[in-house]
Amino acid sequence: MSSFIEIVYFAAAVIFILGLKKMSSPVTARDGIVWAGYAMVAATVVTFFSPAVHGHGVFNLLLIVIAIAIGSYVAFKSAKSVEMTDMPQMIAIYNGMGGGAAAAIAAVELVRFAAGHDIGGGTVQLLAVLGALIGAISFSGSAVAYAKLQGLMKKTLRLPSHQALNISLFAITVLFGALLAFSGEVSGFTVFLFFLCALVLGVMVTLPIGGADMPVVISLFNALTGLAVAFEGYLLGNAAMIIAGTVVGSSGTLLTQLMAKAMNRPLSNILFSSFGSDSGTAQEEEIAGSMKEIEASDAAVTMAYADKVIIVPGYGMAVAQAQHKLAELVQLLEDRGVTVKFAIHPVAGRMPGHMNVLLAEAGIDYDKIYDLDEINPEFPTADVALVIGANDVVNPVARTNPDSPIYGMPILDADKAKNCIVIKRGKGAGFSGIENHLFYAENTRMLYGDAQKALGELIAGVKQL
Ligand code: NDP
Repeated sequence: MSSFIEIVYFAAAVIFILGLKKMSSPVTARDGIVWAGYAMVAATVVTFFSPAVHGHGVFNLLLIVIAIAIGSYVAFKSAKSVEMTDMPQMIAIYNGMGGGAAAAIAAVELVRFAAGHDIGGGTVQLLAVLGALIGAISFSGSAVAYAKLQGLMKKTLRLPSHQALNISLFAITVLFGALLAFSGEVSGFTVFLFFLCALVLGVMVTLPIGGADMPVVISLFNALTGLAVAFEGYLLGNAAMIIAGTVVGSSGTLLTQLMAKAMNRPLSNILFSSFGSDSGTAQEEEIAGSMKEIEASDAAVTMAYADKVIIVPGYGMAVAQAQHKLAELVQLLEDRGVTVKFAIHPVAGRMPGHMNVLLAEAGIDYDKIYDLDEINPEFPTADVALVIGANDVVNPVARTNPDSPIYGMPILDADKAKNCIVIKRGKGAGFSGIENHLFYAENTRMLYGDAQKALGELIAGVKQL
């Protein structure tokens, strides 16, 4: 039986990797998720047949089945009903659950160890402690990320001497961890203190992070969760956990690096500098000029007679679910001979690839979609930059004000187009909560309204010409 289990684990691991490969393109991503889901079901089912080895095996069958039934029901229901714009919170909380589960496995083993049982000694014990540390930090940190994204708590919170507190707490946690990993005998109370410190550390590290850094942090916790699961897989001697955890850990690390690079921020700065400091306390420059409104019919004329239009979609387009209307407008403009391109910022929206997914859903050709580096040199040659519900990703203050919480983040240069038309509902700020100088620029006009409604008016305007 055990070689059958190993074969299924191996097949599942291969499918995980193939599924992940498919996720690299919006066209095949859905299949990739489904494949990985089937592989996960197979790996879970076959685990029920594990024989008892070294005190491990499947016990408490009824409790496990009840827990899986409740978990599956809640996950299925919430995943079905979640709004696309609330996805990051959902990812944060489920990802945190993974870290929590890894930490819980370690907790059970470490409590057994404290009670005098042999849990494998040496490397196994060390990996159990490392997995517990990373898993617990990822669990509580992700819970804080969830609360911030869900609007349940302030985006940033920095205590006096926050950094010094974090360093002390980290040192104490490592000390308890070393005791658990290297001594022959420990008390249950040491295990408790170790977990308490690790959980508080996760909260403390995440509290001050805000500004535009949350995507990177969520991605980092995701990678850490994978690593914790891999370590605990080693503890349980479970190949599927080791492989799946390693895959999540390595792909998550790559994603984190890519996002940190896209934000032009070394990871250490995101975690330890004041970048995410409360935007309310950050110095904001005086803004010259005023916001100038434009009627939809005038905006339609400007775009219909343009040679080149670059469209910058953002979070507001996702909120309004305006991608289909946008596709209709693009078709009309192209029919009139206008060249239309899409400029996608790596952190536009609320999750990596958010805009690409929406545009793919609306049937926009992939070869019209450009990354920041590719499209930025083209803005000065564009007659119109049409900004739809984007704010932070086009805020020129990121280039000009070192005191700004988004200073240093590369932005889309919509301000460099000949004309800039911005669709948004009013004076609402972006995720980072700061004013946007683009909206006050001489060449910018504001088209106020919900993105779907405004695009409907633009379509009507172009059709009348
Ligand atoms: P922003 O959050 O900066 O701005 C969105 C703008 O859309 C708001 O100013 C709002 O203004 C407008 N808006 C909201 N609803 C509508 C609507 N129905 N119709 C029209 N406009 C609307 O979005 P960006 O995409 O520019 O930037 C993303 C931000 O989110 C970055 O700071 C990024 O770091 C952060 N983030 C990104 C994640 C990711 O993985 N991509 C994850 C977590 C955070 P108004 O209210 O006036 O309409």
